[in-house]
Parts: sequence; C-alpha cells; structure tokens
Amino acid sequence: MVTAVRSSLRDLFVEEARGVEMAAALSNLPLSHLNDRIARGELIGACPACGGKDRLGVNPGKPAWVCRGSDGGRDAIGLAAHVLGLDVSRSGDFLEACAAVLGRPVPGDTEENDAERRDREARIAERKRQNEEAAAKRDREANDFRAAEQSRARGKWLHAKLDGLHVTYLARRLDCYAHELPVAPLLRTSPAETYWYGKDDRDPRSVPVELFTRPAMVAPFVAPSGHVIGCHLTWIDLDRRPKFRPVILDAKGEPLPSKKMRGTKKGGMIPLIGFYELDGLILPDPHRPRFVAGEGIENTLAIALAEGPRADTIYAAAGDLGNLAGPADAKRRFAHPTLKKADKNGVMRPVWIASSTPKLDQTLDDALQAPAGVTDILLLADGDSEVHATASAMARARTRLGAGGARVDVLWPPRGYDFADLLALSSLGQ
Ligand SMILES: [Zn+2]
Repeated sequence: MVTAVRSSLRDLFVEEARGVEMAAALSNLPLSHLNDRIARGELIGACPACGGKDRLGVNPGKPAWVCRGSDGGRDAIGLAAHVLGLDVSRSGDFLEACAAVLGRPVPGDTEENDAERRDREARIAERKRQNEEAAAKRDREANDFRAAEQSRARGKWLHAKLDGLHVTYLARRLDCYAHELPVAPLLRTSPAETYWYGKDDRDPRSVPVELFTRPAMVAPFVAPSGHVIGCHLTWIDLDRRPKFRPVILDAKGEPLPSKKMRGTKKGGMIPLIGFYELDGLILPDPHRPRFVAGEGIENTLAIALAEGPRADTIYAAAGDLGNLAGPADAKRRFAHPTLKKADKNGVMRPVWIASSTPKLDQTLDDALQAPAGVTDILLLADGDSEVHATASAMARARTRLGAGGARVDVLWPPRGYDFADLLALSSLGQ
C-alpha cells in the first residue's frame, strides 16, 4: 500500500517535471552564467559537466539545447541530467533530474543508503572525467586545425608577389597615380588566386567548388607578437568601376563578397604603414605615437594619402568592423529604433544591435589591439554601413582602445560614402 502510494506520487512528480518548460527549469539549474547570444535567443556558455568556453547552447524558445560535440535534446529533464552528470536510463538518476527541473526533492525519497549514494556519486564523477577528457581532445583538435589554417594563410602571403596588380588596383580605387600612392610595403599580389565557394567550415564532408581564378591583393594579418596568423584576400577586376573588384554571384544569383580572410583574424591587424620586419616578425615602429585604424585597407590608405602619410603614424586595417570594435556586453544589446525583420513564422521582430559597451574580461585574441605606447588613436568609420550598428560599434571601439589612456577620436565620412569613394568623387568634381 505504502509502495503503491509512493509510486503514484512519483508518477505525478515525473509528469509534473515533464510539463516544466525549459525557460522555467533554467532558474533551477546551475546555468546562471550563460550569456544571451545576440539576435538568436540562444543562451551560450561553459557546460557545468563538460567545461569549455561556449560549449553549451540553450534555446528556451524552441525549445532545444546542445552541448557541442557531445549531447543535446529538446526537453528540460535531459538538459538537467546532462549538466548534473546524471544518466536518465537509470531510474534514480532520472528522478534526480526531474527533481532538479522542479526545484524540489523526489517525494518519499529517503531510501538511498550510503552505499547507493557513494555509487551514484562515483558514477557522476566518472562521467564528468570522461566528458572533460573528450572536451580536451576536441580542444586539441581545434588548436591543430587552427595552426594548420594559419600556416596555409602565412604561406599564401609569403608566396605572393611584391610588385603586382594590387598597386594599380589601389591607385585606381583611390584615384591617384601609382607613384602618389602611400607605400604599404607588406601588401602583395597573388597573380592567380582561386575563389572557392560552397565549403562549409563546420561540415568536413562538404565540397567547395572553384568559381573562378584571377589576381588578388594579399595582405597579412599580424598578431601583437608580430607573427603572421592569417591573410586577407581582395580579388581584383580593373575593368569594373567603381570598386575595381569582380561581381561574384552564387548559384541563386545572390552577391558574394569579393574579399575573404584565411587563418586567424581576431586579435590581429593588417599592417599598412609604419611597421618593420625583424626575424620574420612584423612589428609597429615604437617611435610613432599615433595610430590610425579603419575596417578596410582602401579606406585606411585613403586617409594616409589625404594626410601625408604622417611620419608619426602607424596605419593599419582591422579587416572588419567586429575586429575593430571588439565583443559587446551581450546584456546591453538594444533594439533598432525602426528596423524589423520577419522571423521564421513571419512575425516581425526588432533587429537587435550589439551594445556600445565592451564585453568585460576580454582577451587579447578577441579584437585588434592598439600598438604599445601609442597615445593618439584615430578610428575610421564606414559611412556605407547601417548607421546605428556602426555608431554603436565605433563607440565600443573607442571605449575599448582608450582604456589604456590613449586619446581616441572617430572620423566619419558623409552618410552613404566611404573615404575611398570620397577621393574618387572629389577628383570627379574638379
Ligand atoms: Zn556538456
């Protein structure tokens, strides 16, 4: 009789646990450290069972959760079991997971004796050890893959030509004679660079196709240590005004970027002017106290051309806005004042914009770093990108790069233009 009552109480308990939505269960689980990923409704962070930095993703809205490379599912009980190291195929563990989801103990649960408890704890410890081992192996493999990619990117730059089409391309882009162009000695040309398309980096089985092969400008990405960790490619088409880059379309006719990056970009910079080479390292000139950085090579060189280039200044490009601005404080994202986008159910949702406040606890690998010792920084904004997102990102870059005490200014081109366009326009008008 007592057993029957307890059994029905437990059935009820399990049913109750099954009815708890993932969002409600979260507050009962050790997951308060998870961060909101911008615009996707996904919470990301370390897995309490497997570790890692952003291995665990929970999307309460779907609902779904995944611990990358190891486990995943659609219910709160499975999530609870995973993060607590419980095995749902064992009834004791399953009830523990239900208890965790509900935030209260299993009814009538006084039966576990010391030996059973020790056994359960040992199983949890063993499962945790196995998870950590597997996670460490995945990390090692990711590091090997990254090192190989960096080496391939370095090779691409090392084998490119010093004098090539990139000089003509830049002169046309900035609408000046080649001899007027600021000398950016680390830029090179790959005379025949293949544009691969269709390879999905996350899926090793996907096969890329060759869209075309033509000349490309090759620039190195350099880490603060001076090592080349990646390269930046810009395909050139001297016949195609005004950007002098090929128009590239995918199979559906959607435009593809004519610039690509290989190896590692984050934390690095594209050195343009004011650097020297020493024992295979590329280092900023320590006697130059001013630093000018833009997203793109062309924009940054446009300013170098317009102002000199100045002998007291290090000129570098970040490659993209994310690497210039750095990661944002995810909790302070804000909705775009007017822009909305349809979600998959056709409901219009606000477009989220990354905060102007930098994320706390950044590492040197998270974004471009100012060279040591610079006291005066000028950041170049792009006027042809969405203005709210760009303004927020530039404010973030300003705070981040000024944290060491340097004075930081942001230079904005007129709305709708970038600085390279401006040079071309100003000469047209004359
Ligand atoms: Zn995990």
